[in-house]
Amino acid sequence: MRAVAMREAMLYEKLPGLRVRCNICQWRCIINPDKSGVCRMYRNRDGVLYSMNYAQASSVAADPIEKKPLFHFFPGTQVFSLGGWGCNFHCQGCQNWEISCPSDDQPWRNSREISPQQAVELAGRYGCQGIAWTYNEPTMWFEYTLDSARLARENGLYTVYVTNGYMTPEALDELGPYLGAWRVDVKGFSDAFYRSLARISHWQGILEVAERAKHKWNMHVEVVTNIIPTMNDDDQQLEGIAGWISEKLGELTPWHVTRFYPQYNMTSLPPTPISTIEHAYEIGKRAGLKFVYAGNIPGHHSESTLCYSCGRQVVQRFGYQTTAVGLKDSSCKSCGAELNFRTPDGGGRRA
Ligand code: SF4
Repeated sequence: MRAVAMREAMLYEKLPGLRVRCNICQWRCIINPDKSGVCRMYRNRDGVLYSMNYAQASSVAADPIEKKPLFHFFPGTQVFSLGGWGCNFHCQGCQNWEISCPSDDQPWRNSREISPQQAVELAGRYGCQGIAWTYNEPTMWFEYTLDSARLARENGLYTVYVTNGYMTPEALDELGPYLGAWRVDVKGFSDAFYRSLARISHWQGILEVAERAKHKWNMHVEVVTNIIPTMNDDDQQLEGIAGWISEKLGELTPWHVTRFYPQYNMTSLPPTPISTIEHAYEIGKRAGLKFVYAGNIPGHHSESTLCYSCGRQVVQRFGYQTTAVGLKDSSCKSCGAELNFRTPDGGGRRA
């Protein structure tokens, strides 16, 4: 058995009776002594809140950045991708339930320990230009991702959170100076949906934190909606998401509408019909979004990026093969239209 990597949590308040309030995510759990929060990754020991899994990785890979998916952020590069343990949501159709909802109370016992320094070194060794915290919700090892992001930026690497977006604003403000991309799921657009899928009720906080990531911290933001038959495939929710992106994040913000495949506790539902994804694509376009991408449909016409102004292809994609054919920094090489890219040669405002 390996030593547990306990670190005192960064954002919590001490309460009477040795209780604590965790302020890392929007659950803001009040935790009694010798108990854990909803996520089970933060534990109260004698009135001190600890992260239990600092640097304990469940999953490690060098991935194409397009796999996150991020289509307008350093296209064609490899990103060193790290997953930890646990989640603050309990989504019934989770793709990564083995690491997000482990049955073991201390799943990190089976981890590979990767310090922030080692993560930076490994990223270089594997030819990656950045580091992503992904596969499970990165907020679950917040202190580790913060230390790693700071070091990564000092070493010239870009940094990415692939997140359900439920972090608190004050946690985001700690990461803000060091995080380049906020790849956020907006899973639906109604109280009933978020309650039934993920058992949370204050889902609008996800939108507020995404807006803060973009406008306060100048992060590159891309939004993903996995469309699940009968749950979030109605026009009202899809129009709600598309309209919010257009109004609050801007019409150049990429929206990925992806196909659901049955898994975990949602095997009774069918895969999303391609016609539903096509319909969501049209809803996004009608809302004024310039970049809507259909996900999990190889070869779909939306896979490559076209300039919305002159119609020329600027980034060619097939699966994870990506070639920037018509980009000049963040703009169209042909007509000069701004396309909201961050690129290795200086496109966009910041990595
Ligand atoms: S990070 Fe975990 S313990 Fe902290 S508020 Fe969120 S669910 Fe609760």
